[in-house]
Amino acid sequence: MQVKIILNRIEKHPSFVYEAVGLVDGPRLRLEVKVRTRANARAKCSGCGRPAPGDDTLAERRFEFVPLWGIAVFMLYAMRRVVCPHCGVKVEPVPWATGKHRLTRSAAWFLARWARRLS
Ligand SMILES: [Zn+2]
Repeated sequence: MQVKIILNRIEKHPSFVYEAVGLVDGPRLRLEVKVRTRANARAKCSGCGRPAPGDDTLAERRFEFVPLWGIAVFMLYAMRRVVCPHCGVKVEPVPWATGKHRLTRSAAWFLARWARRLS
């Protein structure tokens, strides 16, 4: 079974697609999942939440996801910058993370659950 199938089952985001999954060697083995937007998905403004025309795309960012079999999992996504008629230039929000956090919501929940178990 492919990792993409698991991700689409447990963490599906309607406007985004899991594109490619790669196992990367390094000091620590990791899985990298490339994420892209659906072709017709318009970016939203992180200020007011309304769809806004795109400006450009920022450098690809790495979001830490829940580890799989002890292997670190990262989602890679280049966030879009929008020009909102109400809020000005903003970076789009992504459903898997909050603000500038590099940890996904799922990973934050996962760590919180572990912390509770250990205490
Ligand atoms: Zn706005």
